[in-house]
Amino acid sequence: MNRSPGLRSESIRRQNLSTVLTSVHREGASSRSDLVKRTGLTRSSMGDLVSELTRLGFVVEAAPPPDGSPGRPSPIVQADASGNVVMGIDLMVDSVGVTADGLGGQRLHSARRYRPRSRVGLDETVAMAVELVDQIRADIDGARVHAIGVAVPGMVRRSDQRMVLAPNLGWPETDLKQLFKSRLDFDGNVLVGNEADLGALAESRRGVAAGLNHVIYLSGEVGIGGGIIADGRLLRGRDGLAGEAGHIPVNLDGRQCRCGAIGCLETEVGEETLLQRAGLSSDGGREAVDELITAARAGDPSVQEALSAHAHWLAVGLATLVNLFDTDAVVLGGLLGDLLPSIASELEPALKQRLLPAQADTPVLAAAFGIDACGVGAAEMAWDSVLDDPLRPDRQR
Ligand SMILES: [Zn+2]
Repeated sequence: MNRSPGLRSESIRRQNLSTVLTSVHREGASSRSDLVKRTGLTRSSMGDLVSELTRLGFVVEAAPPPDGSPGRPSPIVQADASGNVVMGIDLMVDSVGVTADGLGGQRLHSARRYRPRSRVGLDETVAMAVELVDQIRADIDGARVHAIGVAVPGMVRRSDQRMVLAPNLGWPETDLKQLFKSRLDFDGNVLVGNEADLGALAESRRGVAAGLNHVIYLSGEVGIGGGIIADGRLLRGRDGLAGEAGHIPVNLDGRQCRCGAIGCLETEVGEETLLQRAGLSSDGGREAVDELITAARAGDPSVQEALSAHAHWLAVGLATLVNLFDTDAVVLGGLLGDLLPSIASELEPALKQRLLPAQADTPVLAAAFGIDACGVGAAEMAWDSVLDDPLRPDRQR
């Protein structure tokens, strides 16, 4: 019992370090006095906390640019972005992207490699990602790589981070965390998350929904992924599998989905169905999608019917989600975001018609990050593991 006050104060100090560093990462550089206002911590403790974060190499204090006012200006506490890095790996069906982001969210490096959709084997995909990681790590030589986040278009169980189902990749249940740990020459933490969950995290923290606490993110690539932010946090469910909005049933007379059920949202607004309805090759991949988007933007009447059906079924699916979650905004990513300008005039009234009166003005927005959303979210997931306890990596060195 004698030790408990000391343990308690140590745990409070670690929590306070986390609070200050998280503020610098998410809200940007700031004077000590503004950090006091942002965090609610005392002025006297802020000095010690900033000194400790400086000693740990996370932040630097610099003179602000002169603003002409008299007196000595307060130094600005800013993230050491080039010295502190996380990497994001974004595994998509037709491409693999890797990014390096500095503390504070600055993108330092990125690379993406496209591949045919027929070549999505697990080993081949991991090898491609590892090669890109090695290339980028050579470019950021000298920076501390704190953690690596992996985004995958599959369901990831929270308790053991195993990917348990990836219908659009056709991979078996896989321990991706261990697989990457064994292939990468990296001692730090590797975290795995569902791509749409991470897209939701990216858009709600740094994208079009920044500052909103209740967000539905729906993303279309080959399949339809969903992520839900509730009360400012990613809704995870019992074991991390919540938010699979692509598999809510919308058409009881519809087609069988890759998940095995009938009439899922994905079977009505997925890429394959859209291309078929537009009379394009359903396995035409990104080129066919680009062709369709160009035609849609030009107002081509031959794709109008397909877009009307798309808008109708998307409205049916979104109405269920918005009525259920009472959200600030809906964010559409990937193919759905690219199509929004072409379908908004039909989608918005069709959605409004199905919403409860209190939800009727819920805005539908196109994602800010486009194809990069999942990579940004993977980096944020990796940062969370660092910012949660900034002292931990220091102890391990
Ligand atoms: Zn399904």
